[in-house]
Amino acid sequence: MAEETLVDQIINLLEDRQRRGMLHARLGAENIDFLFQVNEPAKASKPPARTAHDAAASCGGPPPREPAPARRTSDVAESRSPYRAASAPTLKDWPEPPRLDVDGVALDDLCSTVADCRRCRLYEGRTQTVFGVGNPAADLMFIGEGPGDDEDRQGIPFVGKAGQLLTRIIEAMQLQRDDVYIANIVKCRPPGNRNPEADEAAACLPYLKRQVAIIEPRIIVLLGAVPLRFMLNRSGIRRLHGQWLSYDGIDCMPTYHPSYLLRVPAAKRDVWDDMKKVMERLGINPGNG
Ligand code: URA
Ligand code: SF4
Repeated sequence: MAEETLVDQIINLLEDRQRRGMLHARLGAENIDFLFQVNEPAKASKPPARTAHDAAASCGGPPPREPAPARRTSDVAESRSPYRAASAPTLKDWPEPPRLDVDGVALDDLCSTVADCRRCRLYEGRTQTVFGVGNPAADLMFIGEGPGDDEDRQGIPFVGKAGQLLTRIIEAMQLQRDDVYIANIVKCRPPGNRNPEADEAAACLPYLKRQVAIIEPRIIVLLGAVPLRFMLNRSGIRRLHGQWLSYDGIDCMPTYHPSYLLRVPAAKRDVWDDMKKVMERLGINPGNG
């Protein structure tokens, strides 16, 4: 793929700020400086103070265990050091995380492995991992960013406000949540509901890729810029939503994330148009909606 241009990077940054709720800003000197620092590394994010407490609720498996033993801060710093955060990184900007061989691992076992995972710093802040939910033989899979607060508490993806909107979208497609499979780029909640960083996504992606390989959906809906970037290494959700792309031979439809729709309801029309394309390809008659 072609190198991202400066304009693409700036658009990414602005979209990222908008997703985080920054809808207005004064275009003063400090913001102009910020825009032109796109190639400079950002400060490493501070690990949250909470102790990890893993629960395997979402695997339907064992009850919550005792809190994981605390790690020395220096361990975390060492393991983080090769992957310093940049403003709008893509996977190709980062070294490979330690290899994880999950080939041939069944969904249940994968879920249990995830429940114990500490491959990235996000394990420190989670209440529990959020593996994925739905029909393991689904034709349609939705991929979001990562758990928010509600998901972290319940161990199930897309159960908060944005999740309820996603459920309504699924139902408008004449499907139920149980018909589809829903998962995220990262399985642990990023602190403050920020987007996952590239090294966190890279550490977690083998799990999602294995989920996709097991489920073998016919179509994947990528919810927003984060899964677009990390599954396909593409940027520009505004430009690419509604266009068929491909992951490993599987048709992918990027569309806006439901949290964006909560802030910008006018974008629901675009999402519905995108979902109608998905329905058509699945052989569901969208009617006149
Ligand atoms: N947003 C996401 O991207 N994933 C969730 O599971 C919930 C909100
Ligand atoms: Fe492991 Fe993924 Fe959680 Fe990081 S986000 S600790 S890689 S499960």
